[in-house]
Amino acid sequence: MTSLEQASSSPISEEIPLARPDITEREIEAVCSVLRTFRLSLGPKLEEFEGKIAEYAGVRRAIAVNSGTSALHLIIRALGIKDGDEVITTAFSFIASANCILFEGARPVFVDIDPQTLNIDPDGIEEKITKRTKAILAVDVFGQPADWDRLQRIADDYGLKLIEDSAEALGAECKGRRAGSFGDMGVFAFYPNKQITTGEGGIILTDNEEMAKLCRSMRNQGRGEGSEWLHHERLGYNYRLSEINCALGIVQLERIEEILAKRDRVAQAYNRRLKKLEGVEIPYISPRTTRMSWFVYVVRLSDEYSGEDRDRVLQELRRRGIGCRNYFSPIHLQPFYREMFGYKEGDFPITERVAKATVALPFYGDLEEEKIDYICAALREILAS
Ligand SMILES: *Cc1c(COP(=O)(O)O)cnc(C)c1O
Repeated sequence: MTSLEQASSSPISEEIPLARPDITEREIEAVCSVLRTFRLSLGPKLEEFEGKIAEYAGVRRAIAVNSGTSALHLIIRALGIKDGDEVITTAFSFIASANCILFEGARPVFVDIDPQTLNIDPDGIEEKITKRTKAILAVDVFGQPADWDRLQRIADDYGLKLIEDSAEALGAECKGRRAGSFGDMGVFAFYPNKQITTGEGGIILTDNEEMAKLCRSMRNQGRGEGSEWLHHERLGYNYRLSEINCALGIVQLERIEEILAKRDRVAQAYNRRLKKLEGVEIPYISPRTTRMSWFVYVVRLSDEYSGEDRDRVLQELRRRGIGCRNYFSPIHLQPFYREMFGYKEGDFPITERVAKATVALPFYGDLEEEKIDYICAALREILAS
């Protein structure tokens, strides 16, 4: 009996979650210490967290906010994107990367993806550029950077702003340069399923001092630098990130190499077990990706299993206590996008074909080998039945 067969026949004692944050006593201690200071917002932890993230990403300024979605929203506003404008982006992403464009009344214009990297296909962009196009917003999908050289060239050629949604790619590198540092402005996000977490949180990254100031003001009710608490220079929001969240983020960032290494080990353990499994395609890593930062572990089922059969696979995995998900569900096919823009099936064929075939398996740094064995054996068994 191989170890896989053994693992498959032994029931696991608990459900295996799809994701789990990597929290140690150090994080718990850091959060408790902040509470003891009574300084819970706009304090030293915010500045320290922003400084450390900026340094890590290799940008001049970082502005922490209460979610990745808030970070994207402030970028759209800071760049002056408004009603009547268009932003070129991808439908193979989390909904927030397109919604942030809608928040300001602008229109997301989708371009299909590269079938291997799952990132926006630069070849499809130029034909979508109109005189209303203001920016390109590209996403580093699943922790793999987009083709930033080509995206920057197109942005330069047409005088467009370039935005990097790196919510899933903290720590990744494209040709030796860190994700988050590409384009005019970028974001990381810190929801508990991301590489590092602050509970909830996000951060804006930029080299542009003016944009940084504007974002800092807008996250804090439009207050000016050093101005009175009840003096508001512009329309702003409460997108502040508390000291408690920042203290958690600081420790997470100090542990980043350890956290990324653990995640890489889990991804490699899956790869070894699944690379020869028929009907399953393991994640593709582009030669441009000099460092992958694993956000999720997503396999693709071959055409014979895609669609309803894929959904059966997800169901069967869940019945065995294995957390899993289709990743992503295309943005253009979400009910309100169909309603607003008349999108329908067939509009972005590669995005749709990939979306019908994906299975995200449980993925977090502390996932034990024996559970990986169990998950892979279950997948093999389900595909064979
Ligand atoms: C997680 C994520 C976001 C948004 O982050 P929140 O902190 O949940 O608001 C944005 N874009 C992408 C691609 C993401 O994966």
